[in-house]
Amino acid sequence: MKIFDKMNEMGHEQFNMFHDPTCGLKAIVAIHNTTLGPALGGCRFWNYNSEDDAMIDVLRLSQGMTYKAAIAGLNLGGGKSVIFGDAKKLKSERLFRSFGRFIEGLGGRYITAEDVNTSVRDMEHVKKETNYVTGISSALGGSGDPSPVTALGVYVGIKASVKERLGLDNISGLKIAIQGLGHVGQYLTEYLHKDGAELFVTDIEQDRIDKMVRKFGATPVAKEDIHSLDVDVYAPCALGAAINDVTIPELKCSVVAGAANNQLAIPSIHGAELKKRNILYAPDYAINAGGLINVSNELEGYNREKAFNQAEGIYDILCSIFKRAKEEDIPNNIASDILAEERIHSIGGLKSFYLSKRKTFKIRSDK
Ligand code: NAD
Repeated sequence: MKIFDKMNEMGHEQFNMFHDPTCGLKAIVAIHNTTLGPALGGCRFWNYNSEDDAMIDVLRLSQGMTYKAAIAGLNLGGGKSVIFGDAKKLKSERLFRSFGRFIEGLGGRYITAEDVNTSVRDMEHVKKETNYVTGISSALGGSGDPSPVTALGVYVGIKASVKERLGLDNISGLKIAIQGLGHVGQYLTEYLHKDGAELFVTDIEQDRIDKMVRKFGATPVAKEDIHSLDVDVYAPCALGAAINDVTIPELKCSVVAGAANNQLAIPSIHGAELKKRNILYAPDYAINAGGLINVSNELEGYNREKAFNQAEGIYDILCSIFKRAKEEDIPNNIASDILAEERIHSIGGLKSFYLSKRKTFKIRSDK
């Protein structure tokens, strides 16, 4: 891969590769944009098929963090790191401390956190070498599990979406399908239940379904059927790409609003497809920004109440996205990208992807 060409194409500022053969550490840190503040983003430990795959992943993920921080109103930039290798074989205190020293060497331009295959405990090893780390346990003054804050953001985001699409101020009596009952999905189920929604749930783990049926009277659904139920809201809270060429024609909901990252398999196409079908889409990185809001609070001395209050602001953030999309007759995911880019442009620089291509998107959405 021609890394400078790729950085230029995607708008990255910095790309760092670290190697410590004494512990098997091979890490990459990509810093996408630091106009709004230091780049914050998690560290993913993954056994990639190739170095190119690892590089593409870290470039893509760090770019996404720029947009998430910007739309959430945080004074943070976008960055991400990956550690290349088999986490089960390689994980050690030595490796994470070595990683911590590399992060320290970046002088605060990048702040790390946990992500896929890295844990609070791993970040506590990193913390022994650098203060540029978040996602530390609450016992050590950190922010602890971000999922309740993420779930609150998704809950208020669903309310904003229902208000916009159905004109309703509350969700009592509405049918909501939840796909994925993990950390976020379970808290979300509880919020929605308290508000009187009729819930339909699925997971690949039967015990998680049973728990939600028992605790909140939810109706269990086969995992293949969850997206095609005749419901008001479909909330993807499992893996990415739930909205794709196969599922879109089968959707009967009015709103897609959930916690999962990268819900649209191909954002430029599937966002427009939802719009064409009059299905309101709450852009994933805006509605699930509660997790980032939570860890960002750690930088100023963590206050749980403040983090929850800030996550409630996701209601207004979504309203501004919907307003912009309506004004310009563009898909919500594009409106969100534009608003995020405008915030960065108002402070400094960002190589623009969507602003320069808006015509293309309009043509696509008109098809
Ligand atoms: P999790 O791993 O705890 O939960 C995911 C759940 O989805 C699991 O219970 C899993 O069994 C289930 N699942 C997997 N494949 C499924 C399928 N095909 N059908 C139904 N269920 C399936 O993860 P989480 O922390 O709850 O996060 C959920 C999503 O939200 C992820 O996409 C994550 O990236 C995103 N997210 C999470 C946070 C957070 O604070 N945890 C923040 C932002 C975004």
